[in-house]
Amino acid sequence: MTEKTLGGHAEIQVRGLYKSFGDNEVLKGIDLEIGRGEVVCVIGPSGSGKSTLLRCVNLLEEPTKGQVFVGGTELTDPDVDIDAVRRRIGMVFQQFNLFPHLTVTENLTLPQRRVLRRGKAEAARVAAENLERVGLAEKADAYPSSLSGGQQQRVAIARSLSMGPEVMLFDEPTSALDPELVGDVLAVMRRLAEEGMTMMVVTHEMTFAREVADRVVFMDGGVIVEDGAPAQVIGAPRHERTRHFLSRLL
Ligand code: ADP
Ligand code: MG
Repeated sequence: MTEKTLGGHAEIQVRGLYKSFGDNEVLKGIDLEIGRGEVVCVIGPSGSGKSTLLRCVNLLEEPTKGQVFVGGTELTDPDVDIDAVRRRIGMVFQQFNLFPHLTVTENLTLPQRRVLRRGKAEAARVAAENLERVGLAEKADAYPSSLSGGQQQRVAIARSLSMGPEVMLFDEPTSALDPELVGDVLAVMRRLAEEGMTMMVVTHEMTFAREVADRVVFMDGGVIVEDGAPAQVIGAPRHERTRHFLSRLL
């Protein structure tokens, strides 16, 4: 455990999490704690349950069994106001899902106005602030189709940040991008990490994991096989399954 976990309280806590789709048990008892300001990268082969785990953390998927806490609130409590909790959790997907008929600014202001009931001026101010944060202030009035994939993903990150989340979940945010566009997106995420955002990042970018993550979690077959410092999990894996996975990435 890092000092962030020991010092603060857990921002994300997953306890005894199971998830099945029909007969297919995809998550088989996941326990995970992420401290405030901690960055955890989740790695593992395709089909190991990484996306399902991330989606359970904001209840886009309903766990079959187990508990999920974010900021001390239990999401899996049947009485919880899930919409209210979900507002505290930002999520960025492989696909950017921007509205093509809206400008960049409008993409950022719409959810603020609809979901947070912010006024026009405040929503615009927050949008401008977050476009600046991802280095796209000059694209405020552009339409998504005129942007590169990397720029669109940075807009999607800014849209998420405009909602003022306490934690950010990323599911392979750079996997759909041309290689030359990956760096700019990772740079934005790195800055966010340095600003102290609590982040859970599913990624195949081992350099990012090594340099930015406080911890790396290796999943295989619906369980966490290994959880530790990047230098240990990536540099000196203890388990054969981790070694095998990493050797195939090179
Ligand atoms: P990963 O992100 O590690 O590639 P996923 O969490 O996407 O893995 O998928 C793990 C397993 O769960 C796969 O076998 C996949 O087919 C299954 N799965 C994921 N989502 C659904 C769903 N909505 N319905 C049925 N099966 C699903
Ligand atoms: Mg996935």
